[in-house]
Amino acid sequence: MRAMWRILSFTKTLTPFYVAIIACTVIGAAAGLTTPFITGAATTLIVDAIGQGQGGDDVVGQVVAGVLWLIALFALIELIAIGAQSIGGTLGDMMGERMRAILSTRYFTHLLRLPQRYFDDERTGTIVSRLDRSIATISTFAQSLANNFLSTMLTMAGILVITAIYAWPIAVLLAIMLPLYVWLTALTSGRWQRYEGRKNEHVDAARGRFNEVIAQLRVVASFGQERRELNDFRGHFAEVVRTTGRQSRWWHGMDALRSVVLALVFCATLAIVFVMTARGDLSVGDMVVLVQLLIMARQPITMMSWFIDISQRAIAGSVDFFTVMQTPPDPARERDIRAAGDEQGAAGPVDELVPVPGAPAIEFEGVTFSYADAETGADAGAGGDDSRRDAVHDVSFAVAPGERVALVSESGGGKTTILSLLLGFSAPRGGSIRVFGHPVERLSRAALRGAVGVVFQDAELFSGTVRENIAYARPDADDATVAEAARRANVDEFVERLPNGYDTVIGERGLKLSGGQRQRVAVARAALKDAPILVLDEATSALDTKSERLVQAGLDELMLGRSSLIVAHRLSTIATVDRIVTLRDGRVDEVGAPDELAISGGLYDELLTLQESGSAGHTGSR
Ligand code: ADP
Ligand code: MG
Repeated sequence: MRAMWRILSFTKTLTPFYVAIIACTVIGAAAGLTTPFITGAATTLIVDAIGQGQGGDDVVGQVVAGVLWLIALFALIELIAIGAQSIGGTLGDMMGERMRAILSTRYFTHLLRLPQRYFDDERTGTIVSRLDRSIATISTFAQSLANNFLSTMLTMAGILVITAIYAWPIAVLLAIMLPLYVWLTALTSGRWQRYEGRKNEHVDAARGRFNEVIAQLRVVASFGQERRELNDFRGHFAEVVRTTGRQSRWWHGMDALRSVVLALVFCATLAIVFVMTARGDLSVGDMVVLVQLLIMARQPITMMSWFIDISQRAIAGSVDFFTVMQTPPDPARERDIRAAGDEQGAAGPVDELVPVPGAPAIEFEGVTFSYADAETGADAGAGGDDSRRDAVHDVSFAVAPGERVALVSESGGGKTTILSLLLGFSAPRGGSIRVFGHPVERLSRAALRGAVGVVFQDAELFSGTVRENIAYARPDADDATVAEAARRANVDEFVERLPNGYDTVIGERGLKLSGGQRQRVAVARAALKDAPILVLDEATSALDTKSERLVQAGLDELMLGRSSLIVAHRLSTIATVDRIVTLRDGRVDEVGAPDELAISGGLYDELLTLQESGSAGHTGSR
């Protein structure tokens, strides 16, 4: 229930809808409650006339006229009720859809603000699955809340009041039965939720795997694992079906129990009405009113069971919604993506990054970071004993403006981690990182990332055209700008041969291009962005020698006049950098020019010897 209040607070803009729907509901329910009185009044007219004996055509005519008037009134009230219902229903649908939009946007906004490690731990398919379910269950609930629940409750309240006036024992019975009914339901709710939670887990797991399998279908197929993946998938849904069976048998069993209680109470109330009428405590007209009211009361009560079902689904669904919404955001990302009006998920401040005179382009000072800390969110134990678990420990180095610096280590040495820290994907536990003299944590992400162009090992392209991918950072770039960036990255060389040139659609994640082509598109994308700092993470490592040369040529041109931080697996590609920083287990080992380090006997020297002797064919002959 607290969750529902929070959702209401998210959807304050829907208040006019809530008010209008409540108004329609009140009118509809009130109209519904008056109809038994009209039939009751008609009955009284007739019964009285019969009681007085046949009083001639005059009396009959009067009674007939009176009854017809009452029927006309009945019709009018029905019309009002129908009108209120259909207006309320329309508003309810509109409200539901708007709520879906608002909550989805909220969710997406919050996801974009979450720290990178959230996405390291969760699978895309699972995230999507949760979003779908949460939003669907919550908005269905809200819609039925608006369209049915309220009128049900009002009708029940009306019936209670009216029966209390006419025949209080009935009201007492109903007043005892209603809480009993709700209590019986609440009793069953916990177990229902557990079943639902188990089902959701399996659905999420299946959908998470589904996404991965589709994305990596070539791997699945080449290892011949389709059948196993299919079996796993089927297994999850078999479990969902089994659990649903248990859940449903149990729920309907309890529902039957509730219905028995309901039926008994209904019989008892009818008996009371008939006995009271027979003893003359109630008139026949009153009896007609009460019988109708009691028959009317059955529908809202059974509806409550359906309604409780939906609300439980919503509670189970919103657990995930709020789990995500309550995951603490990355403060820096939060600053950038303000919730503000939320409808637009307004962008953060686009601060220009003005270099502090004399400051290095990039500066790391005593930076320490561990993935384990990031997970637990613990700041404690800084510099403590478990420094061996640090992915990066006490790292200091600087890249002067226009300088090219390479990071070298064995695999797992912390190079990628250093780049993530620089880009603000994670925050260090200790030390400071400055870009053009500004501490990273004080820059807006927009300013920070505006200053840095990146090319990763696996060019991360989007489905869309070559042009869209190159112009990702500046969608409004004109053709000449795109063509220039493409030329510098040697993209033009292969684009000419594509069926639609720059308008060729390259498939999800650029799958229709070769690795080298993808990488050149990524270089063009960075070239178009034209940022003063360039970060390369093994940008050519996955390529064959010829592609590497083409990409490297593009990169060399791109690095001109920029401050660059380069991670390269093949040391031949970094022989021309200004300085090299070597890392051993996340700690800086040596810093120096390539020729110096090549004869120092340190890590670089070691790796160089290994690469030259070990896999000459692989590294090329230089
Ligand atoms: P490199 O890029 O030099 O190969 P990384 O910076 O990727 O090294 O990794 C440094 C260390 O951090 C490794 O021990 C690696 O296993 C660990 N690591 C990297 N990424 C993560 C992550 N997302 N979660 C937990 N540990 C990680
Ligand atoms: Mg790496």
